[in-house]
Amino acid sequence: MKRLPIFVIALVLLAPVVHATAAPKAQNEWGTTHKIIFVGLTPKDQPNFWTENLVDTATATSDGEMLSFAKESVKNAITFWKQNSRGKMKFATSKFIIGKAGTAIKHCASSADIKAATKIAGLKTIPIGTHIVVANIYDSCGYAGLGSQEGNAINLRSFGSTTLAHELGHNFGFYHSSSMYCKGSDYTKFNATNCSVEEYGDFRDLMGNEDWCPNTTLSATQRATIFHTPLAKTIKIGADTTVDESSLVTDKIVYEFGYKGNWYFFEYYIHSKDPCSWVTNYLYEPQIQVRMIGPAWTTAQGNAVGPILIVRLGSDLPAGEPVLDEDGEPILPPLYKTTLTGFQAGEVFKLPGAPYKLTVKSTGETSAVFTLTKS
Ligand SMILES: [Zn+2]
Repeated sequence: MKRLPIFVIALVLLAPVVHATAAPKAQNEWGTTHKIIFVGLTPKDQPNFWTENLVDTATATSDGEMLSFAKESVKNAITFWKQNSRGKMKFATSKFIIGKAGTAIKHCASSADIKAATKIAGLKTIPIGTHIVVANIYDSCGYAGLGSQEGNAINLRSFGSTTLAHELGHNFGFYHSSSMYCKGSDYTKFNATNCSVEEYGDFRDLMGNEDWCPNTTLSATQRATIFHTPLAKTIKIGADTTVDESSLVTDKIVYEFGYKGNWYFFEYYIHSKDPCSWVTNYLYEPQIQVRMIGPAWTTAQGNAVGPILIVRLGSDLPAGEPVLDEDGEPILPPLYKTTLTGFQAGEVFKLPGAPYKLTVKSTGETSAVFTLTKS
């Protein structure tokens, strides 16, 4: 009898959650009902890996620790994608199949594992909408999971909710939630030498570096680019735009602006009262976040760079007059060493790569007002 959930969770944290390979077929036709077939490959030396009891292969009726853990991950991932597509995605009942002892081979061969899993599932080919999720704890490729852009199969070495939901995101057509920083927070020098993109840098969601929790959502920009629920509204230059908090219930959550092939997205963000994670050096004040897609040199800085969150460092910004405490000692400015993930009321920011400037007029309780003007 093996009890290994802690080992699995550790892998999720240590191994990079990664990757996208080529696309076999479009999976995000909304009329399609998705179905997850989870195939757990079994190590030769651990025939009871998935269950506490000896079970008939392929007809496991009693769940052990690992199998329940896998079922929980599948349930969480499906709930996540149903919520983030605002119910647009439909899922059939998932299927769980355990391979015979010896099917989990120590190798780095994602295609071979998918082929084996497809066969174990009794399929010759994978139908549209079906996702074969094959778990091989002996996968030695070095990733926690591997999905493919608009693909229909997923390799998992660790099978926690974060990894599975993330890889499913790739199958549904999502790229990574990235971030960008230009030296000195100076976005007027906007080029590949001065600015760097962190492929998984967006703290906002699990297509970036967030972990799954019952409250996780995707950034409104991510949702708008794939699900179009809601559509990103076009900004009217010079007019005040009111943008709501990035919740799943309103349509005024994300605005877009295109300029010479670059796309800019604006959404309002208020950190949840019940956060999944709290990184102390991030700005958690209400803020307008700016994400962009393009130019080409930004997406070239990774394998699957998606919408890129613009970040600045508090220490790069002018400190202003020093504030002294009762003893006459200077107090560090409030944003010292803080990563600024957005813009607050009163800020003006010239868009990188476009002659327009963002002016944030207010950041209220649930919505904010901003204007984009020619600069
Ligand atoms: Zn990924």
